[in-house]
Amino acid sequence: MYEQGPIRPPSEASSLLVRVTRNCPWNQCLFCPAYKGAVFSKRSTAEIKQDIDEMARKYGPHAAGIRSAFLQDADSLIMSTSKLIDIIGYLKARFPGINRLTTYARARTMTKKGLSEYRELKDAGLTRIHTGMESGSSEVLKRVRKGSTPEDMVTGGQRVKASGISLSEYIMPGLGGRSLSRVHAVETANLLNAIEPDHIRVRTFALPPSSPMQEMAAEGSFVPMTDEEIVAEIRLLLANLKEIPAHFHCADFSLNLLMQVDGRLDREKTAMLEELDRFLGLTKEQQQAYVLLQRSSPYFQRPVGWVKDEKAVKKAWKRIQKLERGGKDGFDRYIRRLMAFQLPRPQKDNW
Ligand code: SF4
Repeated sequence: MYEQGPIRPPSEASSLLVRVTRNCPWNQCLFCPAYKGAVFSKRSTAEIKQDIDEMARKYGPHAAGIRSAFLQDADSLIMSTSKLIDIIGYLKARFPGINRLTTYARARTMTKKGLSEYRELKDAGLTRIHTGMESGSSEVLKRVRKGSTPEDMVTGGQRVKASGISLSEYIMPGLGGRSLSRVHAVETANLLNAIEPDHIRVRTFALPPSSPMQEMAAEGSFVPMTDEEIVAEIRLLLANLKEIPAHFHCADFSLNLLMQVDGRLDREKTAMLEELDRFLGLTKEQQQAYVLLQRSSPYFQRPVGWVKDEKAVKKAWKRIQKLERGGKDGFDRYIRRLMAFQLPRPQKDNW
């Protein structure tokens, strides 16, 4: 049976998953449960080709109809360019309909390849690189042990863009906590303005249970933000982003409270800011009612105007008051628990 890794971006839901490495070579980011406890390894070309053969056998005559593939796991660019080109060529020979081929990569790893290598990868068929920026602030990045600097992100990101490969950057509102919120928002916007990626994907921070960040929160060195504060942070970030030809995505991740804030920066920035302002203009009771309902059933997106329904707000408010009576920050703690349910589980218990 061919191997598959634990995660892929939501936009690769219908892609063929080809595992070229296992897990994450860095694996130290304090906010990321995806590969904790799992050891990184590169797979041999023979193993990968054997997997591709098995998948081709499984799909049989339907293999030609497959248009999209994703190379797993967390940092495929750690492989040599020649090996990647060999694998991509083999994959396209066995699945001749593939015209979209994407992968994850770490920013630090992206700096190790020159522009000519990215051009070779593009010519071979690599169409998009997904990478986790999380923050443009060096202070935030250091605190969460990201292992990449803003300089790495600009260097790698600009090379990918110059080669013509599409670039998707992931950012994480809330990651700086309350004390670094402002610098996190402004410096993330500045870095994105410098790179001009094709896609900016918002991944609202949720506190992973049993993680080092949970310990930091318990001892007070990290103060988690409420949903209301994170919406204000996203507004500051968005206001500081230039009208570049990039798509700002909230719709593809259910931990984003306002998934409807989604559109092109060069065409829909004002409309997105207006939607954020609609939420920020609600009363505290209305905001909390919206948060409670949205976090309780995150896959059903409600318009902000829903909380104008007085009956529904009254009902939610009773529940909120009960939660608040349950101890200090009772409502916020409950919301954090609901959000943590949506995180990927670590593959093993140890971080
Ligand atoms: S965020 Fe990315 S680089 Fe960091 S541990 Fe997770 S997979 Fe690895």
